[in-house]
Amino acid sequence: MNMTTENLKIVSLDVKDVRFPTSLGAHGSDAMHVDPDYSCAYVTITTAMGKKGNGLTFTLGRGTEIVVAAIKSLTPLIVGQTTVDIYKNFGSFWRSLTSDSQIRWIGPEKGVTHLAVAAIVNALWDLWAKLLNKPLWQLLVDLEPEQLVAAIDFRYITDVITREEAITILRDAKVGKDERLDVLKEDGYPAYTTQVGWLGYSNELLEELCHKYLAAGFTAFKLKVGRDLNDDIRRLKLVRSIIGDDKELMVDANQVWDVQEAIDWMKKLAGFKITWIEEPTSPDDILGHQAIAKAMKPLGIGVATGEMCCNRVMFKQFLQADAMQFCQIDSARLGGVNEILSVYLMAHKLGVKVCPHAGGVGLCEMVQHLQMWDYISLSGTMNGRTIEYVDQQHEHFVDPLIIKNAKYQLPTYAGYGTTFTGETLAKYEYPNGTVWIEMFGKGLYQSPKQL
Ligand SMILES: [Mg+2]
Repeated sequence: MNMTTENLKIVSLDVKDVRFPTSLGAHGSDAMHVDPDYSCAYVTITTAMGKKGNGLTFTLGRGTEIVVAAIKSLTPLIVGQTTVDIYKNFGSFWRSLTSDSQIRWIGPEKGVTHLAVAAIVNALWDLWAKLLNKPLWQLLVDLEPEQLVAAIDFRYITDVITREEAITILRDAKVGKDERLDVLKEDGYPAYTTQVGWLGYSNELLEELCHKYLAAGFTAFKLKVGRDLNDDIRRLKLVRSIIGDDKELMVDANQVWDVQEAIDWMKKLAGFKITWIEEPTSPDDILGHQAIAKAMKPLGIGVATGEMCCNRVMFKQFLQADAMQFCQIDSARLGGVNEILSVYLMAHKLGVKVCPHAGGVGLCEMVQHLQMWDYISLSGTMNGRTIEYVDQQHEHFVDPLIIKNAKYQLPTYAGYGTTFTGETLAKYEYPNGTVWIEMFGKGLYQSPKQL
């Protein structure tokens, strides 16, 4: 069917609550989230011609139903719109989603409403890439600087970067683009693993996983810390003894400490040659992170944060305050690709490395596209940059990521990589999927109908 205005009209938006029972194996456990069930609110946008786009935002189980409700509240803003008009001026459409005068009151641009925007906007980008039959990274790479920048809402960030500056930066970065694409095609983009270090894992499992990921070619490892200092020391010693001194080691406290506590605790771990401490304290505490970063500098430890940084304004201040040395954008926490692009541009201008947060459900699938775009079209370097890799939930996607020699391989399928298989939806849709019904029957979980 031809892509006429009429058949590119959005005729429906469907949202599903999809949950995986990961808490049964302590996968994903950290100092703050002791029993996460990796989940997502999953959006399908359908056009009149039948073409579909899928997008999601990552959640941890209960609470997904609230995000689903927020997506339903935003649906009238999307259904009936024509995709051509949306993509022509994506920045102003994005603003209309985040500025609805009744919905913005319970945000604005943060929390549940922003997670809902992320799922919807990510589905719109998946749809755009699928309509053009390109992987998302390529859609971004092929857009002219003016078109790409038209997707960004610059309100609140022009004191750091303007539309015109962004266009100039992107134009200048075109030099060497083809060579960089060849590098990605040949070799891929470096990943680090978080798999060895969930807090709930035993010594034996820790050892086994270190060997497994070393053998797979990984040179950077991340451990969860922050529940018990002596236990952190014991596990860091164990991991260092296996991976050796030449590998990179990062730690992640998932927001558990006060500012001074973070500084004191990290001083005790500094001997293990730590590249970064991730989320040492409240994700909202910009000046707290600044103080920690200042104290960590002489120890050679950087501060990493961003997976729960809710919008471009907060990222702007973190970057301005020298409060993050590693900027961890999250593809489903910020308001989708549009807002993430603005953070990449600010980080580039202020000289901060972007190392995306991933794992969860579909986050690895998504961020690889963004980081590859950054390498080809913006920063032009992979130096000191790496994408988080967690080997969970990939099998549920039609186009799962491909890792070879610890490197993400350039995606070749059309879209953003966020389409679930039919089997996964039949099994894991909550609460009516077959796996959930079975688990309620066994008493592993309580059915919401009994609550
Ligand atoms: Mg983290």
